[in-house]
Amino acid sequence: MRNDELLYAASQLARHLKRSGVQWMPGPDAENVARLAESFQLPDARPPDGAQTPGQSAASRKPASTPADGPRKSAASRAADRGQPGRRPAPSPPDHLGDATRSRLAGVPPMEVSDGPYPGENLLAPQRVEVLESLANTVAQCQRCPHLASCRKQTVFGEGSVTPRFAFFGEGPGADEDRTGRPFVGRAGQLLTKMIEACTLRRDDVYILNTVKCRPPGNRNPEPTEIENCREYFTTQLSTLRPEYVVCLGAVAAQTLLQSKLSVGRLRGKLHRYFDSKVLVTYHPAYLLRNPSAKRAAWEDLQLMLRDAGIRTGQ
Ligand code: SF4
Repeated sequence: MRNDELLYAASQLARHLKRSGVQWMPGPDAENVARLAESFQLPDARPPDGAQTPGQSAASRKPASTPADGPRKSAASRAADRGQPGRRPAPSPPDHLGDATRSRLAGVPPMEVSDGPYPGENLLAPQRVEVLESLANTVAQCQRCPHLASCRKQTVFGEGSVTPRFAFFGEGPGADEDRTGRPFVGRAGQLLTKMIEACTLRRDDVYILNTVKCRPPGNRNPEPTEIENCREYFTTQLSTLRPEYVVCLGAVAAQTLLQSKLSVGRLRGKLHRYFDSKVLVTYHPAYLLRNPSAKRAAWEDLQLMLRDAGIRTGQ
């Protein structure tokens, strides 16, 4: 692996560890990478051209833009001009990456960035377990949607790793989930498990949750009021877990999380942002069971995310 690829992989890993509750990491900057490379006696431990070298003061670094660039408005301020407060410029691959890495990332469309860091404290794993268990108990007694609460056998809170790099966000429980209390365990769930494994992950590595925690009768879509009633629960789950990637499965999940009215067809093909998480939109496994020809597109969506995450699947 080249030094620049190593730097990129290290920065991805550092972000994931921080999200997972690790309190301190050496910063993934050129100085730390050079130190680490030196300690492992890599032959080419030079920091990338133009990067700060050990001992070089921040003041002596070349600024990212010069007066010759002219006054530039930030994307955030341009967005504010358009009446879209809170939007931030989408980052592009760092300049110091080598051609190989940049070309590998060239297939990754730019992210849409619409929010800042997750609110609240980044909890350690045992604290996350505590918060989620307490929330699951609250959800189990929830009566906010009287009709759903009277029809359900039990609530389906969600399950998986409390330090996930990836979270899969679905629509709502079906009959199998209502019976077992676990998300995505029916035929669609089996397909989701295959999709997760195709990503070289295990189901236990990720977290799986739904937009609503009670089964809508007849497998109808949840009503907007039911989604709003349940919003507090899934937002607390996500802000506790802070996954690096959230995969929205189907229109209900995508439109709810991204607060958009666009179809899956319009939302897929790029990475969006939900607080600190990158968001991928793809088809719901139940839709893929009904429309097998869409499986190829869904796999392309997942590959887009995997390229961004630096995961190679060999396909
Ligand atoms: S769907 Fe959510 S908000 Fe509605 S009753 Fe179930 S747990 Fe409560």
